[in-house]
Amino acid sequence: MGPHSLRAWLDVLKQENVLKTVSRKVSLDFELAAVGKRADGKYALLFNNVKGAKMPVVTGISGSREMFARALGVSVDRLVDTFAAAQANPRDCVLVDKAAAPVQEVVTCKVDLGELPIPLHHEKDGGPYITAGVLISKDPVTGNRNLSIHRLHVLGPNKLGILILPRHLNHFYRAAEKANKPLDVAIAIGLDPILLLASQAIAPLGFDECTIASALYEKPLELVKGVTVDIDVPAHAEIVLEGHLLPHVREIEGPFGEYPKYYGPASPKPVIELTAMTTRKNPIYQTIVAATMEHMLLGAIPREGGMLQVIRNAVPNACEVHLTPGGTCRYHAVVSIDKQHEGEAKNVMFAAFSSNQEIKRVVVVDKDVNIFDPIDVEWAIATRFQAGRDAVIVERALGNKLDPSCEDGLSDKMGIDATVPLTADPFRFERIRIPGEDTMDLEKYLD
Ligand code: MN
Repeated sequence: MGPHSLRAWLDVLKQENVLKTVSRKVSLDFELAAVGKRADGKYALLFNNVKGAKMPVVTGISGSREMFARALGVSVDRLVDTFAAAQANPRDCVLVDKAAAPVQEVVTCKVDLGELPIPLHHEKDGGPYITAGVLISKDPVTGNRNLSIHRLHVLGPNKLGILILPRHLNHFYRAAEKANKPLDVAIAIGLDPILLLASQAIAPLGFDECTIASALYEKPLELVKGVTVDIDVPAHAEIVLEGHLLPHVREIEGPFGEYPKYYGPASPKPVIELTAMTTRKNPIYQTIVAATMEHMLLGAIPREGGMLQVIRNAVPNACEVHLTPGGTCRYHAVVSIDKQHEGEAKNVMFAAFSSNQEIKRVVVVDKDVNIFDPIDVEWAIATRFQAGRDAVIVERALGNKLDPSCEDGLSDKMGIDATVPLTADPFRFERIRIPGEDTMDLEKYLD
């Protein structure tokens, strides 16, 4: 049972002394992002004196696996399994009246994004970006709901440029464009880590990510009807922007400093025209500084959960999966298995590659390896892997366009089987250990 709103979560962080307030005057141009980046993984920050801002700004609300685990009410080692279980057992949402929806306490149909304290994050960004907005859309054909997070470039008082990667929203937008119709969307800003995590699930087309949030909350996520769009929005968000994606309109969006720690380039991209902004009476604006651990883990944890499901369908004795920070928490996966049959490691690789297009490299290790420890993983590769026998390379599959080494999204995939052959003499692969060393207290031996 987790926090059901950003405010509830901030209260938890405050109690645990993880939330720090910043009363010093801070500029939206780089300074706020710089402070947020320095605090990443250590503190959540509430800026209450942002230059020119009418509301406080929060960032870093979940910058470590420990913080996400705390939000989900589980231990860190249960985090990914908990997410996977929620995805496997989704739960319905509930529609509430406007009166029970704080996010619609203040409604304006004359949207001016200048009212929001939207920061400029990285040096060469094309402008201020909304980075923590969960976009809610519906399949124009089936009506199924979808959640996704996109970088949103402020292009005018009521206009946003949007990067849409080839996933579910892209599918809806293409269908709407084909019919020459705008596509209704809503963007919810100021959310708890559970709803943010759920929005990043690796789920099939047609799967409503809101139902994962309900499962993780252990109670239905409360939604309220949009004021100007046919979209239900999170009732406890701080801010909701309503509008539509315009068909056949493109404007320059970018550059934007992205999670791979490079800029996503500027190019003509789709445009959202905003029709309403609804907020709480005293809203808090939320931003996520790109490429911080907060940003990376938001992508990694749901992906790990989704991947584990797909991998276990193929290889039931798969144990754990980790998307490593050095691999941008997207491109490099390590998977441990309790190997029963020769060749299973390769099946794990294929399942991992098929689970999501961003994966470039999969290292499969035995269950004795700590997949969260890069030294242990490299040790397994160094001592259990032979490239000629154990490497698999698939050239030019679909990858991620934000990876600058990709050629127009085409990416090679590499699998590394660093498991011990089942036929090997077990003693050759016996890890050395000194009896008693792991439990002894060194201090007791020192004068
Ligand atoms: Mn989806």
